[in-house]
Amino acid sequence: MPTVERRLIAVEGIVQGVGFRPFVHRLANAHGLRGSVHNSTSGVVIDVEGQRDALEGFLQQLTTSAPPRAAIERVSVERAALGVGTAFRIGDSDAATPRTALVTPDAATCPACVAELFDSADRRYRYPFIACADCGPRFTIAQDVPFDRARTTMAPFALCDACRQEYGNPHDRRCHAQAIACPACGPALSLLGGDAAPLATGEAALALAAAALRAGQIVAVKGLGGYHLATDATDPLAVRRLRARKRRDAKPLAVMVRDVDAARTLCAVSPHEAALLESPERPIVLLARRTPCPLADEVAPGSRQLGLMLPYTPVHHLLLADVGRPLVMTSGNLTDEPIAYRDADALARLRSVADRFLTHDRVIATRCDDSVMRMLWGGPSFVRRSRGFAPQPLRLAEPFPVPVLALGGHLKNTFCFGRDAHAFLSHHVGDLDHPAACEGLREGVAHYARLFALRPELLAHDLHPDYRSTALADQFADVPRVGVQHHHAHVVACAAEHGIMEPVIGVAFDGTGLGTDGAIWGGEFLLVEPHGWHRLAHLDYVALPGGDAAARAPWRMAASHLWAACGADLEHLPIGFVERMPDGEWPLLRQMLERRVACPETSSAGRLFDAVAALLGLRMRAAFEAQAAMELETIAEPSVRSSYPVGFEERGDGWIVDTRPLVRGIVADLAAGRAHADIAGAFHNAVRDLIVEGAERIARRTGVRRVALTGGVFQNALLTERTADALVVRGFEVFLHRRVPCNDGGLALGQAVVASRAASVGG
Ligand code: ZN
Ligand code: ZN
Ligand code: FE
Repeated sequence: MPTVERRLIAVEGIVQGVGFRPFVHRLANAHGLRGSVHNSTSGVVIDVEGQRDALEGFLQQLTTSAPPRAAIERVSVERAALGVGTAFRIGDSDAATPRTALVTPDAATCPACVAELFDSADRRYRYPFIACADCGPRFTIAQDVPFDRARTTMAPFALCDACRQEYGNPHDRRCHAQAIACPACGPALSLLGGDAAPLATGEAALALAAAALRAGQIVAVKGLGGYHLATDATDPLAVRRLRARKRRDAKPLAVMVRDVDAARTLCAVSPHEAALLESPERPIVLLARRTPCPLADEVAPGSRQLGLMLPYTPVHHLLLADVGRPLVMTSGNLTDEPIAYRDADALARLRSVADRFLTHDRVIATRCDDSVMRMLWGGPSFVRRSRGFAPQPLRLAEPFPVPVLALGGHLKNTFCFGRDAHAFLSHHVGDLDHPAACEGLREGVAHYARLFALRPELLAHDLHPDYRSTALADQFADVPRVGVQHHHAHVVACAAEHGIMEPVIGVAFDGTGLGTDGAIWGGEFLLVEPHGWHRLAHLDYVALPGGDAAARAPWRMAASHLWAACGADLEHLPIGFVERMPDGEWPLLRQMLERRVACPETSSAGRLFDAVAALLGLRMRAAFEAQAAMELETIAEPSVRSSYPVGFEERGDGWIVDTRPLVRGIVADLAAGRAHADIAGAFHNAVRDLIVEGAERIARRTGVRRVALTGGVFQNALLTERTADALVVRGFEVFLHRRVPCNDGGLALGQAVVASRAASVGG
């Protein structure tokens, strides 16, 4: 007589909203087991009874055959006395126990749903809200946990009989899919005019929207995490009008194409890039554009790259199929405001931009921008980590001793909750200059606290007292707080995502961050250990005329570097620089530099790139931070082998990197009429060389040969790949960001880890 036994199995990780319970049901039936499975607030609990062999097989396959979107982190098994029912059933959710279950990110419409969407025999043929247990909205519709329909913005849509049957059938792809819907019971599309007057619903709304797009109009399209502004990407007039109305005259616009083949007509797409494009996360992928390229030049003026993405909602699939052209799909906002996601707000704010609104009656619970990725040095890398990834936590090697909340930086803000081994790095919140983004930060923090039952016992924030994120810390009056130096946080973010616990040389090159000496840092070599850090080298200070405003005025940084390198002689240099300055600005700037008025000191590497771009006459004024630096990368001639020298001056226990020889070298080349592309190429080599030399000096002194490259400057692919290659040749172990952005979007992760270490030492 074979032995019958019973097991209570708790599964933790990403096991809700991914079809896990139906999977367990099928597996239990296949092994002839009795019992039940239900969601708990910490994951899934399975109660099974059957023969011992069958139980063993069930347990093994539980982890090896789990659904593709599931991520099991822990399985614990207990024995129990016999006595479960006769069949296996899917139980209700249990909302009473502590909430540690993980809400999953949104996933692009799966191939099975796309096939049904275009199958005229299917009952969901052309239904714009088709979804199943493998795909559809998750995080952006979640209001609370456990992730059940009643706690999502799908709650108002009562299931029809047909949908209810699918929902309850363990052998159906839609079993327990919370976003399940059909034309009879689910959300519906509607088309509104630019004045918000209703024009059409359902299929007619789609047809009119497609016609408007084909006619070169601008349509605001409600997506998963917010509104996009769509227009025909092949129509120069349409794109120009979009830029003018959106008041965005420079930044490249993202384009949605139907599939990878369509992407290949616009850009070179490697197999790795194709995989990124087609992944369920569906990020915007930065790709090298073809020449000639059939898109309007206005989409990404002067750029060698295009940001492409594939459709990720049924509405996108239908629109792309019906319009038959690539569509600009840019965030629904004006200039750099946060993307609109609430219907009333979108109608009010985008009225001046959109000719039509293609909207629907499913509420977006959380704003979530598109993620942006690219291949860099042989691996994927984030420019922005948001939709498709948030709120999936990063699992860290080093657990957080107490729950911590890090409030992030000022630009590209994200926040990060840390608990146990999980870092919940948030979706993109945005630039906190905008009140709506500050509101988004407050709401986002509250939402995560609710979804993941997080009560921070420690706060981390930037050292900068004027950051809005720092000010938010005041709202948690009773919670102890730790100010974290900006570049220290950058380096620790990179080390933490790679699980590095040993000392590491952090090269943190970015725009600006407040230093511990009151200066504006940004060209830093830090030696970072788990419980301390030293600044061992940095670019020498120059004036930052007008402070933060210098980010929009590359000509000021060029003047500042020339002033440092050449003094008052700069007026007589045969490079035409003073002549090219904005009218009448030089006398005032000269006074500022001479008297050091409104000129904080900065070691910023980002501002050095700006300065060189302005010296080459590429751009005197910038519409956004790093615009000039990006253009410098674009024109740089990659075949150039030459470089420019810098000086390493020993000071204290480290070095100051004197960039004046570099600037003088560029001035000499300009005066000699050297091609700007060659100067830009040699400048990139010079920055690579100074990073390698800095790392070598620090390695000789400390014995550390691990280097983390971090900070927004390393979004420059030419610099990053050359520098990483050169460091590897010298025997360094090189770490780039892979799981979070190198820019300030990854800062909060580093803040959370630094604060936790500081608190555990202090306590
Ligand atoms: Zn699906
Ligand atoms: Zn239905
Ligand atoms: Fe930064």
